[in-house]
Amino acid sequence: SKEKSRNRFSVYHEDMDRETKEVLTIEMELRKAIERQELSIHYQPKVDVKRNKAAGAEALLRWNNQHFGEVPPSVFIPIAEETGLIIPIGEWVLHQVCRDLTTLDQYGFADFSIAVNVSAVQFSQDRFVESFRSILFEENMSARRIELELTESTVMPDARMAVQRLTQLKTSGFKLSIDDFGTGYSSFSYLKRFPIDYLKIDRSFIKMMDQYDEDSSIVEAIITMAHRLRLKVVAEGVENKRQLELLKKESCEIVQGYYYSKPVPLSAFIDFLFMEWPDESK
Ligand code: C2E
Ligand code: CA
Ligand code: CA
Ligand code: CA
Repeated sequence: SKEKSRNRFSVYHEDMDRETKEVLTIEMELRKAIERQELSIHYQPKVDVKRNKAAGAEALLRWNNQHFGEVPPSVFIPIAEETGLIIPIGEWVLHQVCRDLTTLDQYGFADFSIAVNVSAVQFSQDRFVESFRSILFEENMSARRIELELTESTVMPDARMAVQRLTQLKTSGFKLSIDDFGTGYSSFSYLKRFPIDYLKIDRSFIKMMDQYDEDSSIVEAIITMAHRLRLKVVAEGVENKRQLELLKKESCEIVQGYYYSKPVPLSAFIDFLFMEWPDESK
């Protein structure tokens, strides 16, 4: 009836309002997050499987808001991207990572590199390369210590522009990786044109390795083709020994995941680096 549909309509509208308000509130709070020092970075080790040793880490953003508490990246990153706030936030991340690399140097980890996530909104700015280069200059940090993680959906839509921009980054010394590989419109023929160093196999494929045999063959095929293209392979989301053993067998170079460590604050990451590891080769 008419009455019923009107009710439904108003309910629908209230829901939209509530959702819109929530997004607006998060946006307002996010605008103040940097100055209020609510943002921080957690580090997750990237382990070189051959040397059985951490080779670096991925920087993952955390937001502890005074009203909402911990807001997960899956909630605030999309809002930061829609509002453009990801640009100042991404610059803050790079500054902080440079300072943390300097701290790591003081502990004797001067050969370490740290991976920073870059979203499409950041990468498509005309001044992106210049902005990242000038931050490194300001912080007196070498670009060789920074790895940039970009997803396929960031580089694929405008591949010509991407090749050009990636080349500028590469020439500046940054290491480059394709993140979440396999989830987007992956095309090995395109990959060949990108001056990248690493392929990061998406967590979903690593998870499937536990369950079905054919899914470990997908991982094997990705690793084989990546090596043909002279790319090193990073596996993300490694949670157990079985996955690790399979990846080792396929000569995957770097693994990352809860099996070794969750993302943790810098001080806990440094503790992790000083921890005695069992020698798995024995
Ligand atoms: P991502 O770049 O794919 O990061 C990997 C995510 O997987 C992280 O989630 C990490 O905590 C989680 N993870 C790592 N190992 C395991 C594992 O063994 N098992 C499981 N189940 N999960 C694992 P997180 O920290 O919630 O970040 C989510 C996403 O938010 C990131 O996905 C990235 O796209 C984005 N993000 C995080 N920090 C930044 C940043 O500084 N800048 C930008 N632009 N995006 C960021
Ligand atoms: Ca990443
Ligand atoms: Ca990823
Ligand atoms: Ca992801």
